[in-house]
Amino acid sequence: MSNSDLLARSLASVWHPCTQMKRHETLPLVPISRGAGVWLFDADGRRYLDTVSSWWVNLFGHCNPRINEALTDQLGKLEHVMLAGFTHEPVVQLSERLRSLAPAGLGHCFYASDGASATEIALKMSAHYWLNHGQPEKSQFISLANSYHGETLGALSVTDVALFKEAYGVLVRQNATVPSPDWRDAAPGESAEDYALRCAAALEAHLQQHHQSLAAFIIEPLVQGAAGMAMYHPIYLRRARELCTQYGVHLIADEIAVGVGRTGTLFACEQAPPPEEGQAGNLRSGCSHKGRAGEGLGITPDFLLLSKGITGGYLPLSVVMTTDAIYQAFYADEVARGFLHSHSYTGNPLACRAALATLDIFVEDDVIVANQRKAALFNQLAAPLREHPKVKHFRNTGMIWAFEVETPHRDFAQRCFSLGLQHELLLRPMGDTVYFMPPYVIGADEWRLLVAHTLIVIETLC
Ligand SMILES: *Cc1c(COP(=O)(O)O)cnc(C)c1O
Repeated sequence: MSNSDLLARSLASVWHPCTQMKRHETLPLVPISRGAGVWLFDADGRRYLDTVSSWWVNLFGHCNPRINEALTDQLGKLEHVMLAGFTHEPVVQLSERLRSLAPAGLGHCFYASDGASATEIALKMSAHYWLNHGQPEKSQFISLANSYHGETLGALSVTDVALFKEAYGVLVRQNATVPSPDWRDAAPGESAEDYALRCAAALEAHLQQHHQSLAAFIIEPLVQGAAGMAMYHPIYLRRARELCTQYGVHLIADEIAVGVGRTGTLFACEQAPPPEEGQAGNLRSGCSHKGRAGEGLGITPDFLLLSKGITGGYLPLSVVMTTDAIYQAFYADEVARGFLHSHSYTGNPLACRAALATLDIFVEDDVIVANQRKAALFNQLAAPLREHPKVKHFRNTGMIWAFEVETPHRDFAQRCFSLGLQHELLLRPMGDTVYFMPPYVIGADEWRLLVAHTLIVIETLC
């Protein structure tokens, strides 16, 4: 198919996600025919640097030879088998591997195919736990302001996006929100940590009043992605853990976007400061504190959700990890006490193999350490952006960078996207927030190109 043929036929038959299709009367689709590393290539050979990792899923580049090899091997053995009543090596290995890597105590893995389903599962599991526990009145949830946990109806009930509420509010049992510790909202002179503690106090007030009807509090640890890469101080995670324990409410850590190394540790929950040190007031946000729960760092949520990067960006897979206490509340003779949920492709062997190959790369290439060095270098190289007069709130957590652009254009995001393509960049701003969430394999030269070309785009649009 030629490029133009492909575009016309796509618009005639494919309903694209998150898209007002009429816009494509003027905004052409981008036909991608192959990928290699951080680059996507169209049929005419033009290339685009995938600065958003194709909606935050890719970790080790497109067409990664090691993941390709694992999948090719798996294709010759077993493509799929149902997981009810059956099991297979990839799903067992992945569950064991995740248990050994995740915050201590998360020993049970439940699988689905996408992030929104992982949210659904955690919400159902939490409420069903309280039902089995003799407290059926604990059936409500809370989330942070500007939260995003997926777009199915259950996930929308804990997602705080005005556009979705207007369109689908009547279908959804909307839950309450508590203030987001997003440091851009701190008062003048207030530190990110003090603001996070102030928001934790608001959380406490809410829990105090409503805990009897609350099943769980769901959060995106450290970075609220869809809110515009809102970043917050890790002290909030520590306080959220303490308060949820104190008030008997589950804590659901949605690491669908931030898990698998994105925030500078394998899991974002690892960065919560230890209990005592937390009040000392000398912690900074970002990648300054690393470590595992064993060193007093980190929290264990009651549910940990993974998807997006878990397969390296290859195949749809999501995992809900939970504790033995929750697992045991379902373990009984009656069917109805068991967890009632299934998806056709639960635990798909190919997806599990892609995930195992992805986790292998973390070990083989010492990725967490390598990324910390990379991020430090990239922050230096990004100085011209950070210091640009039209750039505000330049921020970084792990392998995520974001900033707001002062622009007169109300349709800045769309202009930035189109202009980016002309400069070899796949940029996909959210409102006036530009962000980089590149595959971890991005090199220094590619990063230099990214910074230089983004500057050209911003200069043009300011
Ligand atoms: C992307 C995302 C989801 C939803 O995942 P899908 O696979 O798109 O359904 C949920 N939570 C967070 C934090 C996300 O970034």
